[in-house]
Formats: sequence, structure tokens, C-alpha cells
Amino acid sequence: MDDPVLHPATRVVHLGRPAREPGNPVGPPIVLTSTYAADGPVDYARVGNPTWTELEQVVGDLEGGRALAFASGMAALAAVFSLVPRGGTVVLPRHAYSGTGWLLDDLEALGDLTVRRVDVTDPAEIEAALPGASLLHLESPTNPMLEVVDLARAAEAAHRAGALLSVDNTFATPLLQQPLALGADVVVHSVTKLLSGHSDLVLGAVVLPDEAGRERFERVHRHRSSRGAIPGPVEAWLALRGLRTLEVRLERAQANAATLAARLEGHPGVLEVRYPGWGAMIAVRVRGGADGAERVAATTRVWVHATSLGGVDSQLERRRRHPLEPATVPEDLLRLSVGIEHVEDLWRDLSAALDTVAGEA
Ligand SMILES: *Cc1c(COP(=O)(O)O)cnc(C)c1O
Repeated sequence: MDDPVLHPATRVVHLGRPAREPGNPVGPPIVLTSTYAADGPVDYARVGNPTWTELEQVVGDLEGGRALAFASGMAALAAVFSLVPRGGTVVLPRHAYSGTGWLLDDLEALGDLTVRRVDVTDPAEIEAALPGASLLHLESPTNPMLEVVDLARAAEAAHRAGALLSVDNTFATPLLQQPLALGADVVVHSVTKLLSGHSDLVLGAVVLPDEAGRERFERVHRHRSSRGAIPGPVEAWLALRGLRTLEVRLERAQANAATLAARLEGHPGVLEVRYPGWGAMIAVRVRGGADGAERVAATTRVWVHATSLGGVDSQLERRRRHPLEPATVPEDLLRLSVGIEHVEDLWRDLSAALDTVAGEA
């Protein structure tokens, strides 16, 4: 399975399994234990678990580095920000995931670091914010505005300024974008979303390039062990099981998203469609302001009104209902996470909900 010519769709199915030896299980076991018999490589289950390792093998392989599984995407982000020296500066998209901004604001209030927010649609603004910074943390596409960043250019600019580049690759997945290959130093995932893909667990991952050497990897690993930011083995197993179908899920979700984005452009209830041209996420501004957007979200019957994304089930939400969402995200913006249902059912449901605001200002 180390054959690099195998397509990721094949590797994602076959990696992270027990060795193919007579009598071995084909599926990875869920190892439920708090400790291990003494004198082995791992002595306690806060430090390592074979079920995490199997998930980490697959996520690391897809991203082209070495992965560490975390309790959640937020736990993974906290581990990445622990790489920033005390008093350092982090450059962040103004429309980064609201939880990321929340965590960095907390760290800033504690005096640990300083945050500089930038409009990532302007590369010059990113570059102007970098001198003196320790870390450029990007999302591409951003959550929820779906802005896209040239990661190779950003990596060069970060390195020129002596900063690391970390990329939250939750929206793209490693099948559509591999930030390490574009020069990033760290990749972070909310595995909760597309990687696990079934809206049934919370889990995160950090991926570091092999060349980063042991030192940075050990620091992130030590952070996980000392903070206890560890996933449950059952969640890790479920995430790995979901990951097996990533390619087919993404293929269907992307095809659905492309069809829906094109049709949304022509719907009288829609003011603006934000769609990068790939991926499973769309954002739309609808008529009728915040009330209109809330009404659309409350009216759909196939689409689930909920705050998450990346599952097989299509979900939608008005992001500004969350007080942490930046004020530059429009009040009437709905984030659509396109699932794998039949596209005509998705369209009929969504367009009927949008009809209810078509007569508004
Ligand atoms: C959801 C999300 C997170 C946080 O992940 P959790 O698994 O919910 O902790 C981080 N980044 C992005 C882009 C997300 O969408």
C-alpha cells in the first residue's frame, strides 16, 4: 500500500488497516483501553491509541504528511496556536471560522499573542500584515464567505517574513487541495465535517510535513498529551469508516453543488451567490434581510436547519444568528452545505423555500 502510483481514492479505502496476514481482521479493531501492559512503546492511553493511529495514517497520507488526531477541530487549532511564541502575532482572515477567531481573541485577552485580521481577497493586505508575525493562519475557501486564497503565494510571503503558514483545509479536503504541497507548514482539519462526513461525531486533526522533523511534531503531540485533547477511540473508528467513502461522497456533493449554484443565480429570491466553482459549499444572500434568511432556513424540509457542514445530509444556516460571527458577514447570508441526496429533491425543496422571500426587498 506504499505504492505512490495508487490513486487517493484507492489509498483512502485500503490504508489504516491491520497487516494482511492470515487470520488478521480486515477491519481495524476499536481499541478500548485506558492503559497498556508495562514496557511497551506507549504506556497510557492519553498518549496513544491504535485506533487513532489507523485514522492518522489515512489523513496523513492524503495530506502528504504525518497526522495527529484531536478531540475536535478546535482542539487541533489550539495545538497549532501553541506553536506561536509568547507575545507573537497571528495573521488571520477576517472571515475565518468564528470559533477560530473566538479562540484567538481569548488568547489575545490573556496576553499570549496578538491577532491581525486581514481581507484575504487582497494578497497585498496579507503581505502587509506579515512583517513581525509568527504565524499566518488561512482558510481557503473561508468559512462562511467562501473567499479563495493563492496558498503558494501566501506560503512564500509568510516564509519571507519568517512566519509559519498553517491552513485550515476543512472546506477543501485533501482530495481538492493539499496545502503542504503548496508550501504550508501545518494543516488542520475539523474531521467532524467532510472527512468523517456523516454528521455523527466531533474530531480534529493536525498534519505536519515529514521534513518538519521530529521537533515540531513532538511539540504538537506533547500538547495533545498534556492537555488531554484526545479523541475517543469510537469516534476515531467512525471517522475512519466515514473517510473510506470520501471520494464518492465528495464527487456527488460537488456535482450537486455545481447544479444548485447555477440554478440559484436565476432564482428571484436570491441576491448573490458565492461559490468558488468547486467543493460542496455555497453561500447565498437572500431577499428579506435576516428575517427572510431565517424564514428560508425554517421552511426547508429536505435540507436540515443546523449549524454544521460536510455531512451526507444537506444543511443550511444563517451564520449571523451566532453572535461571534463577524459583522462583515451579511445578515441575509445563508451557508449551504450540499450533501449527497438527489439534486432534484434538493432543488425543489430549496427553491420552494426561496419562493417565500421572492417578493421581498
Ligand atoms: C467546524 C470548523 C472548525 C471547528 O471544528 P470542530 O470539529 O467543530 O471543533 C474549524 N474550522 C472550520 C473551517 C470549521 O468549519
